[in-house]
Amino acid sequence: MANIGIDLGTTNSLVAVVMGQTPRVLLDDDGRSMTPSAVRYTGAKQADGSDAPPMIGWDALDNAVDHAETTLTSVKRFMGRSLDEARKVAEELHYTLAEGEGHDVVRIQAGDKVVTPVEVSAWILRLLYMRANECLMAEPTGVVITVPAYFDDAQRQATRDAGKLAGMNVLRLLNEPTAAALAYGLQENSQGTYAVFDLGGGTFDISVLELTEGVFQVLSTAGDTRLGGDDFDRELAKLILSKAGIENAKGSVLRAAMEAAEQAKRDLTAGEIAAISVELGGQSVQMQITRAEFNDLIRPIAERTLKSCKQALADAEMEPADMDGVVLVGGSTRVPLVREIVEEFFGQKPLSNLDPDKVVALGAALQADILTGSSELSDDLLLMDVVPLSLGVETMGGVVERLIWRSSPIPVTASETFTTQVDGQNAVDLHVLQGERELAKDNRSLARFKLKGIPDMPAGLPRVKVTFTVDADGILSVSATEQYTKTHAEIEVQPSYGLSDDEIENMLESAIDNAESDVDQRLLIEARVEAQQVLAVVDKSVKADVDLLGGNETQVISQVSDALREACESDDRKRIQELTTKLDEVTAPFAQRRIERDLKLALEGQDALQVLDVLDRTVKAAEDAAN
Ligand code: ADP
Ligand code: MG
Repeated sequence: MANIGIDLGTTNSLVAVVMGQTPRVLLDDDGRSMTPSAVRYTGAKQADGSDAPPMIGWDALDNAVDHAETTLTSVKRFMGRSLDEARKVAEELHYTLAEGEGHDVVRIQAGDKVVTPVEVSAWILRLLYMRANECLMAEPTGVVITVPAYFDDAQRQATRDAGKLAGMNVLRLLNEPTAAALAYGLQENSQGTYAVFDLGGGTFDISVLELTEGVFQVLSTAGDTRLGGDDFDRELAKLILSKAGIENAKGSVLRAAMEAAEQAKRDLTAGEIAAISVELGGQSVQMQITRAEFNDLIRPIAERTLKSCKQALADAEMEPADMDGVVLVGGSTRVPLVREIVEEFFGQKPLSNLDPDKVVALGAALQADILTGSSELSDDLLLMDVVPLSLGVETMGGVVERLIWRSSPIPVTASETFTTQVDGQNAVDLHVLQGERELAKDNRSLARFKLKGIPDMPAGLPRVKVTFTVDADGILSVSATEQYTKTHAEIEVQPSYGLSDDEIENMLESAIDNAESDVDQRLLIEARVEAQQVLAVVDKSVKADVDLLGGNETQVISQVSDALREACESDDRKRIQELTTKLDEVTAPFAQRRIERDLKLALEGQDALQVLDVLDRTVKAAEDAAN
């Protein structure tokens, strides 16, 4: 009985398992730990006429140059993405998306075959699963799969679906940096605050983690799912192609240039100079490049990582110098310039005593082992990840009420009670939002649903309790219950399209840029909502108890009311607030007379409940006046 851990990478994937007490990466028949995350659809048929399984991993890459269009790499970049996002990503790749017939799911054209990113990932997972099966001589019981910390709901769902499609029991999705911390923290018994810097082939993640005896907490995460070693390759490939005078390279030519670039990049990690020799569309290109030249080429890309680093530190309310250590993860952290930049930013030499390629898989295996329940590493070892963007609902006037704040550790549950605005309102619309802005329209809409079947009650009486739960995999579910009648509605939020990191970044940036005007807008809306509530109450009371109005009261009240209604049409918050206060003042004696009469009537009728009710209202009115 064993659980396994899988690092499903953009570029490379690994599988690991805990043997004895030690996590180990499982090797393939040729003794290699890493398997390229590549799948080639050959178009071959089986005896019964069905499609033969594709080639996976190294086999798939073997002839990638000749079969560029059918060799699918980096599909992780498409996981859980919308078609629009995927189109942008595809421009940079050597294969094409399947177009047409109003499909809004991302599908890739692999020769004659059309496949989804989830299917492709499932093949990679299957290969690793089979390897584990062979090594363990038993079928693995359950699997932990790692995902970038910045993966949103849709991307996580897609990853979980790939696991299901591969026929495995997915126990848990684990954030990659958390896995790395697990590998380091447990093996070295570290204590303190750490930054985990993970630069792979296609994604960048930075996380700030706190390690204390057996408890890991992710304080914050930031990143970019479109930043990695592939970008270094692309810059260098451009240079190589321009030497050959080729513009807009596609397919095999682009693939060949990328492969030559990747090899040269590795050579420049090991030495100071690389020789490039490559056939490009019938031309042979020979050139040399020094590490210094390469550094100049990739510096702008490498430095983009620092933007996310600053964000993560700011969220954790820390400075670079507060880090007790910096952990390097991912193949691209071998690039000397990357190490220099990291060292300079954090003011210390990063840790790299574990193999940066294997750290995530090792951590996944440890987590998988913990989930068997038989681990030496006790149950109270908590792994806490965080919510990447705040979650809330839209309330009156289009303002956001946040239930769960960005960077809250998960799993997390939060509730808030809302009420109705109109007498006899039988349904409440709930609009679930994600983002940091004050107004609903500026945040991302995750879902809408209705709580129906609320019996007739006066406005303000129903108590609708809305509960948000984010589970250990980072997936949100929302429920709403009317407390008196127990009317209940529930949804698991599964947005069909993911939110790209660029969008997350933009949302955070605009929240900061717009903070001031957002607050102004929010205050204006709140002032209007309050004014309208006061107006509604005054109108209702004036109609009900017209006999209690004396002198020129009716006239004054209607003058102030009209002025307030007019002010509400404008953006003049001050005036709205002043007139609301004035309306309160001019109606105060009238309100007092109404309460007195109600009380008197109630006392005369000796109806205790009614007396209590009136007293209740009196107290409430006094409280309101005090506020
Ligand atoms: P992912 O997590 O995206 O699957 P990895 O962590 O496996 O990625 O990192 C893959 C990236 O690391 C690739 O861009 C690869 O070219 C790069 N890489 C691996 N080894 C080296 C090296 N020695 N020097 C420079 N880059 C390297
Ligand atoms: Mg990785």
